[in-house]
Amino acid sequence: MSDLLAQLNPAQAQAAAHFRGPALVLAGAGSGKTRTLIYRIAHLIQEHGVAPHQILAVTFTNKAAAEMRERAAKLVEGADELWMSTFHSAGVRILRAYGEHVGLKRGFVIYDDDDQLDLLKEIIGALPGAGPDTNPRYLRAIIDRAKSNLWSPDDLLRLGEEWISGMRKDVAAEGYRRYQSRLRAANAIDFSDLLVETVRLFRTVPEVLEKIQNRAVFIHIDEYQDTNRAQYEFARLLASRDRNVLVVGDPDQSIYRFRGADIQNILDFQNDYPDAKVYRLEHNYRSTAAVLEAANKLIVNNSERLEKVLRPVKEEGGPVRFYRAPDHRAEADFVAMHVTRGRAEGVALKDIAVLYRTNAQSRVVEESLRRAGIPARIVGGVGFYDRREIKDLLAYTRLAINPSDDVALRRIIGRPKRGIGDTALAKLSEWAQQHGTSVLEACRNAETILERGAAKATEFHALMNSLSEAVEMYSPQGFLKFALEVTGYEDMLRAEKDSENLSRLENLEELIVAAEEWARENEGGTVADFLDDAALLSSVDDARVKRENGNADVPEDAVTLMTLHNAKGLEFPIVFIVGVEEGLLPSKNSLTEPGGLEEERRLMYVGITRAMDQLYLTAAENRQTFGKTVSSEESRFLSEIEGLYQEVNQYGEVLGERRASRGTWRSFNPGSTATQSKPATAASATEAGAYRGGERVSHPKFGEGQVLAVSGFGDKQQVVVNFPSAGTKTLLTKFANLTRL
Ligand code: ATP
Ligand code: MG
Repeated sequence: MSDLLAQLNPAQAQAAAHFRGPALVLAGAGSGKTRTLIYRIAHLIQEHGVAPHQILAVTFTNKAAAEMRERAAKLVEGADELWMSTFHSAGVRILRAYGEHVGLKRGFVIYDDDDQLDLLKEIIGALPGAGPDTNPRYLRAIIDRAKSNLWSPDDLLRLGEEWISGMRKDVAAEGYRRYQSRLRAANAIDFSDLLVETVRLFRTVPEVLEKIQNRAVFIHIDEYQDTNRAQYEFARLLASRDRNVLVVGDPDQSIYRFRGADIQNILDFQNDYPDAKVYRLEHNYRSTAAVLEAANKLIVNNSERLEKVLRPVKEEGGPVRFYRAPDHRAEADFVAMHVTRGRAEGVALKDIAVLYRTNAQSRVVEESLRRAGIPARIVGGVGFYDRREIKDLLAYTRLAINPSDDVALRRIIGRPKRGIGDTALAKLSEWAQQHGTSVLEACRNAETILERGAAKATEFHALMNSLSEAVEMYSPQGFLKFALEVTGYEDMLRAEKDSENLSRLENLEELIVAAEEWARENEGGTVADFLDDAALLSSVDDARVKRENGNADVPEDAVTLMTLHNAKGLEFPIVFIVGVEEGLLPSKNSLTEPGGLEEERRLMYVGITRAMDQLYLTAAENRQTFGKTVSSEESRFLSEIEGLYQEVNQYGEVLGERRASRGTWRSFNPGSTATQSKPATAASATEAGAYRGGERVSHPKFGEGQVLAVSGFGDKQQVVVNFPSAGTKTLLTKFANLTRL
């Protein structure tokens, strides 16, 4: 066996040594699927002499792709020639080169969710059968889902019944049709189209397909369980000539069904390729036995699944802990306290993740962490590229590249104000519609369209003209600086120097820095290339996430906050899953949808299996939703793993343990289960005279504060105290001179 494969276990090594023909690696979480995939690529190059530029690997995020390349580079030469990307990035690249075969003009732009929404709002305004209650978001979801199934508006009309409940099917189909023609008129495509159009291209232009096939002789797909029909078709067509396709996945981790992911794709792989070799990996290297046992026990409750074996390699480890807080604030404080405690014991913050079901849950956690002086990185939510000022400057860039981009024009024509009002804009738009042209073109002809204020519109046209010329002349960063200046955007922000505007200016500067860095990595890259890459950065990829409120750069060492969906494929030594409650996890909506509960259970499974060493589950008895406090029940998923976790109080002291074997609640401190009380047995580092979490103390210099965590004994005892006036301090109690209050 080669040295390379010696770093794998025998089952992994077999899969990694797979050479030609289709293969499926089917295995549970943390079993080394991604690792095996990387070694397989290295093995192809090293042992079989395959050229790196003939290898494609498709991952779930751009970040994952970059990491995979880095890891491959450590194993073999030539990794920078590998084609590693997401489905979407691959689509852009292909359509940029060959899009004209499917009617896309050079310089087409990519619309994001917000752009889609802006366009749909406009369309709904004139859509027969639609009314003020027609929800553009809902229509957007329908269109995206149709596209992920490769459905045309006609297909939607014929087949869409099952998942259109909120509006009439014919109205949705007509909305889709109009949306599509408006997209084309604006020379724009949306995210889903990146795949739909690539598939169309593959189907209709065999020569192009063949060219791409020469670049993708060996195809790899990670997280195959979450592919949708369009991605499936993309892979199938690409692999149709050489049939060297290796996919890895875990049906128990399929969590994107709501976006059209089809678990059937992985289950059908063997039907599609009857000669496919199937490899199974049965050892989990990631999690302790205690964590893995909980995960395994949970997932067997799903009925639609393939049985799998997954055994731990690691030892038992500490128990899974569960804390039920009186409310969501106390729940977040629990997280902050235990993070602080871990930090005091030497845990790096980047090794800790807090996972939740919905983005809205991040706010309280973030606040508690901030009070405790712990930096946090929020993945998703409002990412850097979602900020208004960033989108504005990029919209100017888009319009400069593609004068037909009416959505971009509407976004920025009034920022800064130029005296072109709503009425004028409506007239210009109407004229553009009638003449089958863009609003910008209408601006050029404003003299004949507007009675008043035509000069303002022609001025705007001239401004955009100069920007269009600049696109060709400048580097990306040069262009952005130029645009900020000539559009008056910078002046607008400087005119009123409040903290919000200052922070927007800082963000814009950050974008220019990002463009500079990008240009360094992409020699000869144009403004348009930069724009593509910026458009493709999903919030998960967002490398420049800042704190939600304020602009302090998040240091390297920060706790990661993200949704369970975004955590897929990742791992952290310490994981908190918050909000393990009925109505949240499983979510309320899931319970009324067929298969919804099982999808939520898979999501919980994904969450649990992110933990390497320590897993905390938390829930709140009361929670604020939509401004009302409602009581909340523990999630059914907790009862499904009964016996495999310990319930603790807010200080992490054991309250009791549910033992599956006895089926009863066993309390370590009979007679005292109230969360606030101290257990009779010293289950944690508490001792007579020692400080306890939650206690109030006073320090001669820092003033009053609250003990967040205690560790060690006797002379070595340390306390972590949060002083409102001085922040969080870790002190040796022996020298700290604290007074109890
Ligand atoms: P997921 O289903 O969550 O995507 P996965 O199956 O892709 O998980 P990996 O992320 O590849 O699993 O591996 C999980 C962890 O186990 C990683 O830290 C990896 O380095 C480690 N690991 C996997 N196989 C081995 C091995 N043979 N020896 C040592 N460590 C391993
Ligand atoms: Mg993986």
